[in-house]
Amino acid sequence: MKLIFERGKEGQHCTLLPVCDVPVTDLKAPKRERPLHLPHVSENELSRHYTELAGQVHGVNNGFYPLGSCTMKYNPKVNEKAASLRGFTDIHPLQPKHTVQGCLEVIKRSEDMLCEITGMDAMTMQPAAGAHGEFTGLLLIKAYHDSRHDTKRRKIIVPDSAHGTNPASAAMVGYDVVSIPSGVDGCVDLDKLKEAVGEDTAGLMLTNPNTVGLFDKNILAITSIIHEAGGLAYYDGANLNAVMGIVRPGDMGFDVVHLNLHKTFSTPHGGGGPGSGPVGCKAFLQEFLPGKQVEEKEGALAFALPKHTVGNVKAFYGNFLVVVRALTYLLTLGKEGIPEAAENAVLNANYMMHKLKDIYPMAYDETCMHEFVMTLEKMKHETDVSAMDIAKALLDYGIHPPTMYFPLIVHEALMIEPTETESRETLDEVIGVFREIYDKARENPGAMHEAPVGTYVRRLDEVRAARKPVLRFAGFEK
Ligand SMILES: *Cc1c(COP(=O)(O)O)cnc(C)c1O
Repeated sequence: MKLIFERGKEGQHCTLLPVCDVPVTDLKAPKRERPLHLPHVSENELSRHYTELAGQVHGVNNGFYPLGSCTMKYNPKVNEKAASLRGFTDIHPLQPKHTVQGCLEVIKRSEDMLCEITGMDAMTMQPAAGAHGEFTGLLLIKAYHDSRHDTKRRKIIVPDSAHGTNPASAAMVGYDVVSIPSGVDGCVDLDKLKEAVGEDTAGLMLTNPNTVGLFDKNILAITSIIHEAGGLAYYDGANLNAVMGIVRPGDMGFDVVHLNLHKTFSTPHGGGGPGSGPVGCKAFLQEFLPGKQVEEKEGALAFALPKHTVGNVKAFYGNFLVVVRALTYLLTLGKEGIPEAAENAVLNANYMMHKLKDIYPMAYDETCMHEFVMTLEKMKHETDVSAMDIAKALLDYGIHPPTMYFPLIVHEALMIEPTETESRETLDEVIGVFREIYDKARENPGAMHEAPVGTYVRRLDEVRAARKPVLRFAGFEK
């Protein structure tokens, strides 16, 4: 495909400005020395350019997107409609509050519903993403220990199966990260946890269901080990899709939780934002929350600063339109729909797992939650076909690859999360594709290293793309 700079030619444009009806003044001083490098294209060319670009992207609107730990569910279009209402888009964060009561109500109602779903007492909408929520939640934990002058608590315990953002966020807040190994069942090893806790434990970060798709059956024991040691328990709720409306982090013994509205609560993601990672906490941490909290005062909604706030983690009230989408989704599904979505997410994952496990060995052969992890170690050993090869082969069938080589504790891992929004027919089709690829890998393993063959680009040099990204059109350098 041509770049937009390679299309069209000088003189072509797609602006049609009215004739100037005021005197023309020459702005000598602030003029640029060189003309701006802008593409010269007609509106027709421009339209073709973006249509062609759109055709190269794979999103939920194109086909199956089983990227594990990312919850690429279908996002109902009604959310977009609500988020584009003028009363939500044409506002300013410094507008007098009596003119934006409806917007404050959106924040308040969303917070209340998400508190109910998580079993928390208060919530902030400020964080812009999951990792940002982790950072914010850990600031609350730190503020709590500091307020008690308990400064020896320097360590955050993180299981080795954790999402990479967990240890990173703990380090950002200045904590030392203690990694504890998982047991053979993929869950937290209680003995190892007991050995790790002590007077220096600030807290634990955990996701449950964990990153191998299992619900830790010892969850209550885990959170009480942390509490007995004087630490707090942080719940990474990015994966709430499997349990929303069924079990609550607050009832599992957690003190702080973040959610990913751009996963579980249906905002499109994958393209780099905007997202939202609200943080909920138990009442004893509420005074430390960031930003301003929406409160009801004399029959109207107003903002109030928490007494010992950790400060702002983002400007104003977070990515407000993402919250509008989440509230629309929550109201559409309602009390019955939320747990039903979770149940279907779990059913779909288990259905796929059971239809594949005779040929694709599962890392943990148990009933899974919203996702499952297969290991291609045996196939790699016998045929040299890797998890990467299988993932790349899926592209030729119009299927987005699953998450690869994560979690790190599983070798040759493919992590599949079908989500609840896929039909049985789609799942059956995809299962068929996986089985066909398996047969091909056994019959002609060498050919698998060539996949994909039908995409715009073949295999990319991923390391070079990450380390030396080419972000500028080279033509400028001439
Ligand atoms: C996606 C995810 C995160 C990070 O969320 P971002 O919005 O990408 O920062 C954290 N933890 C888990 C378990 C996740 O799946």
